[in-house]
Amino acid sequence: MQSSAGAVVILGTGGTIAGTAARPDDLVGYTSGALGADTLIAAIPALQGQAIEAETLARLDSSDMDHATWAALRERAAFHLARAEVAAVVVTHGTDTLEETAYFLHRTLAAPKPLVLTAAMRPATALSADGPQNLLDAVTVAREPGTRGVLAVLAGRVHAGADLRKLHGWRVDAFGSGDAGPVAVVEDGRLRRFRDWPDAPLHAAAALLGDAAGWPVVDIVTSHAGARGRTLDAVVAAGAQGVVIAGTGNGSVHRELEQAARRAIAAGVPVRRASRCLLGGVVGAPAGALPSAGVLTPPQARVELMLDLLDAQPRVSPGAAPGQPAPPVRPA
Ligand code: ASP
Repeated sequence: MQSSAGAVVILGTGGTIAGTAARPDDLVGYTSGALGADTLIAAIPALQGQAIEAETLARLDSSDMDHATWAALRERAAFHLARAEVAAVVVTHGTDTLEETAYFLHRTLAAPKPLVLTAAMRPATALSADGPQNLLDAVTVAREPGTRGVLAVLAGRVHAGADLRKLHGWRVDAFGSGDAGPVAVVEDGRLRRFRDWPDAPLHAAAALLGDAAGWPVVDIVTSHAGARGRTLDAVVAAGAQGVVIAGTGNGSVHRELEQAARRAIAAGVPVRRASRCLLGGVVGAPAGALPSAGVLTPPQARVELMLDLLDAQPRVSPGAAPGQPAPPVRPA
């Protein structure tokens, strides 16, 4: 396979892939993000001598991922992808919120060059750590000529960022692409592709992200037996500007929660109805039903609604009279 010329920039954000435990047989009691990106690269003989740059952006357990880190990651990734001498960016990340970060980047980053996320289910100190092979595979995919878009490489599979789902809590092979299936596999260092690389349809709000502190607050409430409308009321009272309901089955919502959702909508807080099922999303839009999130998972729908709200915020353009909203800004 002929590789793309140019450097691969590895941005470390933490996670189990950079985690260390006191004992090699301890797969659970470790500290996420203990190692920097340069240490992860140094552990992989096949990467030595390659044009690789390392930058450690964060050392987070990704269950603590936050919007400020997303904004910084997107900014650094965009910076490096714009450099002529850079072929691709690889991001090392925790597995817990990997699919959320993948979706956020997919919708907000123009990535004509590839951005490849990777992670691990076992810490770097484990007897059979999965991180080094995942990182090597991610670099292999990043260097593949013609690769584009936001991707994730885990356990030999290449997933489109928008399709990624964590399906298992602790197994090494924990990720899938839902009904779409993986884009490709990496077999012994070679890529076998099943379909075209994903396109990167930018959300219009990508041009408006600005300071993460100003991003709209969107919360997720789950529907379940015995669900209480007061839970959703409380989320709105606590400042949610949008709510995603992780509904049952094909997006059905407990009637108590549905009544609360209608109260929220009447108060100007938009609500989207997703499914808590791992696969399938929500199909169909019966008359009178709460607005559907379609194929999006609840965390993806949360990102999408956050971007929709950001896009809908009134803006003042430099030339506009005070108090006058600017015309909608669309990325080029
Ligand atoms: N809690 C870890 C994280 O998401 C789990 C992992 O990376 O596998 O950072």
